[in-house]
Amino acid sequence: MSCIFCKIVAGEIPSYKVYEDEDVYAFLDIAPVNYGHTLVVSRKHFTNMEEIPENELCQLIKAVKKVGKALKDGLGVAGYNIGENNDPVAGQIIPHIHFHVMPRRADDGLRLWPQGKYEEGKAEKIAEKIRKVLL
Ligand code: AMP
Ligand code: ZN
Repeated sequence: MSCIFCKIVAGEIPSYKVYEDEDVYAFLDIAPVNYGHTLVVSRKHFTNMEEIPENELCQLIKAVKKVGKALKDGLGVAGYNIGENNDPVAGQIIPHIHFHVMPRRADDGLRLWPQGKYEEGKAEKIAEKIRKVLL
């Protein structure tokens, strides 16, 4: 077992735990965006969104909701971002699914990613390709 998050869940690597239940373990990110930045991980090893079963994902997102409220109530933050880097191309470094819950302050200077726009007719083509898989 070489996965660092599996080792954290098993207690083999220390972490600042903030929450745990039967399915989920949550701890402070070692390199926080803001104080209180928390990682919510499944106890079982799944790589990403495609691999994790829906029932496990539900438990994970329920814990994300609890942690978010605790950041508001416990740290007094006004809001937070929730993030999941899905696959290396999206910035996933640890291949064990986890949600980032990142406290935000009005004056923290953080910006979300830059956004572009669709050229004429492109949005419909893109939507159609996605719909074909989903519908
Ligand atoms: P990601 O890029 O979504 O895979 O995020 C991995 C996160 O894990 C990063 O934000 C790291 O700062 C964090 N991290 C890596 N090792 C540890 C550790 N031992 N304890 C807490 N957080 C960690
Ligand atoms: Zn793992």
